Amino acid sequence: MNELAGRVALITGSSSGIGLAVAHRLARAGAKVILNGLIEQAGAAALCLEFEQMYGLPAEFEHCDLRDREQIKVMIAALNQRHGALDILVNNAGIQHVSTIESFPEDVWDDMLAINLSASFHTVRLALPAMRSRNWGRIINMASISGLRGRAGKVGYNATKHGLVGLTKSVAVETADSAITCNAICPGWVHTPLVQKQIDALAAREDIDNDAATHRLIGLRQPSGRFVTVEQIAELALFLCLPATDEVRGVAWAMDGGTTAL
Ligand code: NAD
Repeated sequence: MNELAGRVALITGSSSGIGLAVAHRLARAGAKVILNGLIEQAGAAALCLEFEQMYGLPAEFEHCDLRDREQIKVMIAALNQRHGALDILVNNAGIQHVSTIESFPEDVWDDMLAINLSASFHTVRLALPAMRSRNWGRIINMASISGLRGRAGKVGYNATKHGLVGLTKSVAVETADSAITCNAICPGWVHTPLVQKQIDALAAREDIDNDAATHRLIGLRQPSGRFVTVEQIAELALFLCLPATDEVRGVAWAMDGGTTAL
C-alpha cells in the first residue's frame, strides 16, 4: 500500500529506537523520509542507503542538533525550500534522565527542555506556514505516559512531556479549521536504547542481572508485563497520517499496556 506516496516526512531523532521504526513505516507507505539524529556522517549515509535500497526512494539526513534553535531554523528553511513544505512532521527526539529534583543536573534540565519540548515549538512554528499553504499536514509529537501522569525521579521528563501534550492541544485547536492535524502519542515502556540505559542503571544500582532489572522496571508498572514494540508505535503514527484520522485533533493517545487505565 502506498498511502503516503508523494508525502514528505521529517522524523526527528530517527537514527534509532521509535523514530527509526516510524521512519521505516512511513517510507514503506510511500513517503519520502528525512531522517535526523545525533550520529556521525558515515552512519547517516549508511542509513540513507539502507532506506533507498529497501523502499526505492532516496532518504535524506539532516544533521541538526535540536538543542540549538539556530540549527533548527536552518534545517526547516532548507527543507521548505527543497520540498515546498513538510507534509508530515514527527517530533520524536527525546532524552531521559532519572534523579530526584534535588540532584537533577542543571545542564541536563536545560538539554531536556530544549530537546523534549522547545525543539517541537520551533519545528512546528517554522514548518506550519508552508504546510498551511498546501492545506494538508500531519504533526505527531512523541510524548509519553509521563506526559499524562507523574512519577518520582522524572521531574524533567514529566515536565517536558506534559508541556509537549499541552503544545499539541494548542496547535490542534489553532489548526482545527484546516486539514492539518496535530496529535501526541504517549508510549509506555518501549524497549529502545533510551530504556536500556535505565535497565542498565537499575541493574548496576541493585546488583541484579538484566532480566531481573527489566522485570523490576516494567513488571509492576505496565499491567501487560510486556514492552510495547517500536513497530506498534510506528503503526499508530501511520494511522494518524491516514484519512480515517482527519478529525482526530489534539489527542494524547496512550499505547502503554494498560498503565494509564489503572
Ligand atoms: P532513543 O534514545 O532510541 O532515540 C532518541 C533519538 O533522539 C536518537 O535518534 C537520538 O540521536 C535523537 N536525539 C537525542 N538528542 C538529540 C539532539 N540534541 N538532536 C537531535 N537528535 C537527538 O530513544 P527512544 O526510546 O526511541 O525515544 C524516542 C522518543 O519516544 C523520545 O521522545 C522518548 O521520550 C519517547 N518515549 C520513549 C519511551 C520508551 O519506553 N522508549 C516511552 C515513552 C516515550
